[in-house]
Amino acid sequence: SLRPLIVRLVARRAAAPLLKSRSVHVTVEDLRHAIADKQFVPHFQPRVRRADGVVTAVEALIRWRHPDRGLVSPGAFIPLADRTGLIDGITDVVLEKSIAWARIWRDSGIDIAVSVNLTENALSEPDLPERIALLARQHDVPHERILLEVTETVAITEAATSLEALARLRIKGFGLSIDDFGTGMGTPEQLARTPFTEVKIDQALVTGVFDQPQFYGVLEYSLKLARQLGFKTVAEGVEGPKDWQLLSDLGCDEMQGYHVARPMPGEEVEGWVQGWHRDAQ
Ligand code: C2E
Ligand code: MG
Ligand code: MG
Ligand code: MG
Repeated sequence: SLRPLIVRLVARRAAAPLLKSRSVHVTVEDLRHAIADKQFVPHFQPRVRRADGVVTAVEALIRWRHPDRGLVSPGAFIPLADRTGLIDGITDVVLEKSIAWARIWRDSGIDIAVSVNLTENALSEPDLPERIALLARQHDVPHERILLEVTETVAITEAATSLEALARLRIKGFGLSIDDFGTGMGTPEQLARTPFTEVKIDQALVTGVFDQPQFYGVLEYSLKLARQLGFKTVAEGVEGPKDWQLLSDLGCDEMQGYHVARPMPGEEVEGWVQGWHRDAQ
């Protein structure tokens, strides 16, 4: 098993200090200014395949580089941006930067997918699939190397515009992830009707097992359900060797979390991936 090796070799880089939601008061004017001033920048968190340790993808996680406040976490401004229609400007930045980075990594021989989070409002923008396809063409990135994540609640929505957007994205060949899986209470019937390619198990489910052993069955069931429905399974919030072991025993396909790496600036991804693959040999 690769696990002991990986446990030893994990690069425990210092976390960029992120300002949490509670400590920051954000106004619509702040957000408008930040978009115009290009203060939003995605960081990227890798995920790896359990079976062979290969890095398969990175998830784009937006950070607000505030001139006075430092790095502000998305929890402090995504909900406001979503309510006020500013989310589209932010989503555009993340998509553009992520797909541009994917090109740069491909040119360095790193064949990984890039994953972008979408709110329900961002998903419902009528021309979203075409905009992503245009970016993919401009940067010559294959569609199957671009993944879009929406939370389980959005994934099982009955809203026609969201359903149509998901179908159109899937038809174009983009990957679709159900984020925070296990928290949105989708029934097997609802989930089976969706065009998703994978699920990302919510970290609360894993944490829950260590607090209360009876959660084990819930986690086991969630993974089994996802597999039965044909989804690839990815765990998020894999913080330590205990988490990795548990999910590995349950047959989870891919792992993402601080135990593998923290989100990092685009400039650091190439070196990190090369180091990880070299060490895992
Ligand atoms: P998410 O998509 O579920 O992303 C996972 C969150 O867990 C990230 O928080 C990540 O930094 C954090 N995380 C990763 N590994 C670990 C771990 O081992 N332990 C713990 N405790 N946490 C871990 P972050 O970056 O603060 O993002 C929070 C949420 O904000 C994301 O949750 C996502 O829903 C949203 N978000 C982030 N970037 C974007 C974006 O560009 N657009 C939209 N619409 N939403 C975004
Ligand atoms: Mg996500
Ligand atoms: Mg998640
Ligand atoms: Mg989460």
